[in-house]
Amino acid sequence: MGVPRQRKTHSERNQRRSHHALSRIQVAKCKNCGSAVMPHDICGACGYYRGTEVVKKSVVTSKTAK
Ligand SMILES: [Zn+2]
Repeated sequence: MGVPRQRKTHSERNQRRSHHALSRIQVAKCKNCGSAVMPHDICGACGYYRGTEVVKKSVVTSKTAK
């Protein structure tokens, strides 16, 4: 296994880590109900995607199915 020849300076270490910062999560609003949605995801609250109903939430959330 390779062993580092010399200890890196604080500057070299910090320059390497300058690309490690996390970016903020992008959040969009549902066009149907206005709740926060991840981009390119179906709305978890109402089941809509791009203005059309994709998942029927009334069927999914009903307790009478059991
Ligand atoms: Zn929605």
